[in-house]
Amino acid sequence: RFNSEVLAFEQDAASVQVTVRDLQRENTYTVSADYLVGADGARSLVREGMGAKLEGQYGLSRNYNIVFHAPGLAQAHALGPAIMYWQINEDVPSLIGPMDRGDTWFFMPTGVPPDFRLDAEGSAALIRRATGIDLPYRALSTDEWVASRFLGDNYRDRRVFLVGDACHLHPPFGGYGMNMGVADSVDLGWKLAAVLAGWGGEALLDSYMAERRPVHQMVLDEAVANHA
Ligand SMILES: Cc1cc2nc3c(=O)[nH]c(=O)nc-3n(C[C@H](O)[C@H](O)[C@H](O)COP(=O)(O)OP(=O)(O)OC[C@H]3O[C@@H](n4cnc5c(N)ncnc54)[C@H](O)[C@@H]3O)c2cc1C
Repeated sequence: RFNSEVLAFEQDAASVQVTVRDLQRENTYTVSADYLVGADGARSLVREGMGAKLEGQYGLSRNYNIVFHAPGLAQAHALGPAIMYWQINEDVPSLIGPMDRGDTWFFMPTGVPPDFRLDAEGSAALIRRATGIDLPYRALSTDEWVASRFLGDNYRDRRVFLVGDACHLHPPFGGYGMNMGVADSVDLGWKLAAVLAGWGGEALLDSYMAERRPVHQMVLDEAVANHA
């Protein structure tokens, strides 16, 4: 069921009914479940369906992520191996680093102006300017991403829950986003298991948001400070 998309859901006292579209067979079917966990990211359909809202600030900065091919770049500088290099300057403030042990790298110009657009050719020129190293760079992908700060006002409606980016979004500086989603799932996972095994109850399920939201709040503050 991995190539499936959730289209809608509704719940009653006994279960959640989820309408799912199989993207390969192009048919629609219904799943009846005890619980539904929305781990469906920033544009969460589950969040919308349960009437929760993200509150906060959109657009702290615009940034780009460029994955590129750069044979010889690892050997062309004297800084030694690292997972990430911060290029702190007024001209092209940016992050850069290897994706793996081959010649694939990422380049991330930060705080770009509103009218900033990059294509493959422009990316190669900008990497050259940022690093001062002239190599035959080849951009493999260019993606814009916007840093924002958002927190969900509710993570639970009866049998439906939110985890991960579906209920919190923040600038990636600090590397917290996926980690928090995993921790959300660990927290909620054992509580759902306890209820299904018959020894947990409603108060235990309510403790998910009570425990996780203050952590999210603290981490959002730190990520926004790192971003600044
Ligand atoms: C530049 C950048 C760098 C980052 N670096 C780090 C880092 O170093 N460390 C870290 O911990 N985090 C990092 N993050 C954050 C991290 O990427 C996210 O927090 C994480 O991917 C969120 O995971 P998620 O599963 O909650 O949501 P997502 O990764 O958005 O996954 C949601 C999934 O749900 C699917 N989906 C959506 N709607 C439906 C639907 N209706 N039906 C079925 N499926 C659906 C989507 O296709 C998607 O696959 C970074 C983010 C950015 C932008």
